[in-house]
Amino acid sequence: VTARTPLADRSPDELRSFLEARRADYDELVGRGLSLDLTRGKPSAEQLDLSERLLTLPEGHRDRAGADVRNYGGLEGMPELREMFAELLGVDADQIVAGGNASLTMMHDVLVFHLLHGGVDSPRPWKDEEKVTFVCPVPGYDRHYTMLEHYGIDMVTVPMLEDGPDVDAVEALVRDDPSVKGMWIVPTYANPAGSVVTQEVAARLAAMPTAAPDFRIFWDNAYALHHLTEDEAKSADVLSLGSAAGHPHRPVVFASTSKITLAGAGVAFLAGSRETVRWYLGHLKYASIGPDKVNHLRHVQFFGSPDGVREHMGRHREILAPKFAAVDAALTAELDGLGVAEWTRPRGGYFVSLDVPDGCAGRVVGLAKEAGIALTPAGASFPYGTDPRDRNIRLAPSFPVLEEVETAMAGVATCVALAAAEQLVG
Ligand code: PLP
Repeated sequence: VTARTPLADRSPDELRSFLEARRADYDELVGRGLSLDLTRGKPSAEQLDLSERLLTLPEGHRDRAGADVRNYGGLEGMPELREMFAELLGVDADQIVAGGNASLTMMHDVLVFHLLHGGVDSPRPWKDEEKVTFVCPVPGYDRHYTMLEHYGIDMVTVPMLEDGPDVDAVEALVRDDPSVKGMWIVPTYANPAGSVVTQEVAARLAAMPTAAPDFRIFWDNAYALHHLTEDEAKSADVLSLGSAAGHPHRPVVFASTSKITLAGAGVAFLAGSRETVRWYLGHLKYASIGPDKVNHLRHVQFFGSPDGVREHMGRHREILAPKFAAVDAALTAELDGLGVAEWTRPRGGYFVSLDVPDGCAGRVVGLAKEAGIALTPAGASFPYGTDPRDRNIRLAPSFPVLEEVETAMAGVATCVALAAAEQLVG
């Protein structure tokens, strides 16, 4: 055997010696007393520093139209900021709202408004339906699932493929069951799979027949502009596709600058049909007299133009790309050819999705924890926190400095090799 012979092709003796060697590696790893964290997709301090100038803005306190941004009003958000992000997200400026600091809050409000009041084309509020079900591509974003669970909404899963959710499976689920009211999609550089929804898949999702007359696609474009390579994915224009297919209210688009400027003090956006925007503001007005326009103005001044945003994202890429390269390098060095792991090499976004042999993900996360390396809990990328195959691990390399990513990932690779060998030796 060579160091690259697949474990499945090795004899029992060879496997036992492989296991012994990995145990020795692991003991050495534990002995180093590391304390590293790859759990959450947060920007690093170095990335936050890119937006330091925001803290000196705005200069003055008037918007383009002369309104004093320090005062109440303008529920739909500052027009110049809406125009800037309308261009970046490929929507019309009168179809986008600039809101508070969290797109997750907007998703939550849209969901709750549907439950309490129904959407623009709902026969009745969703709370009055016998059952409400959402289609959830997996692996996906844990907060999408916990939000649905909190409101008692059922979840059915479909696989997330390289070109988006398994659209055959989605079509089959929505066609005959009127309780299926919606689905989540992270269309660009998905969390955690890194997939990009193609124009073809988006067109099918926008046009598919659904038993529910008020089916919603929660199009969470959190990573629309977050490229890691020069091969920049262009998000499908789901609003136009929906309109063209006769379902203009089906998609609701969300985005934010949480991972562009400051993750606690950015600006979030919602876009949809003009009726959807009116519907959203018509409910929001009971909760707010207007957003933080001081923050809107400083973002306008900080970026200057849509190109200013793109240039700023280039600087994030310079910091992030080496960390993603380090993840791939560490996994390749230890695991390439062994047939025990597959991982994504994303072209954008914040995550690497690692698949280990079925039944091993929990063990890998446990081994890493013992060695002082915190990983996202196994199963976190699935509804109810349960990965039926116990094989998926979400890696988030953005927050630690590069050297820590290298050290942590070498350790993770050791844990994967050990867990796989343990399973094979039995
Ligand atoms: N959507 C996805 C897919 C995310 O990964 C995240 C953060 O990790 C969010 C939304 C949160 O966005 P915001 O900060 O705008 O609430």
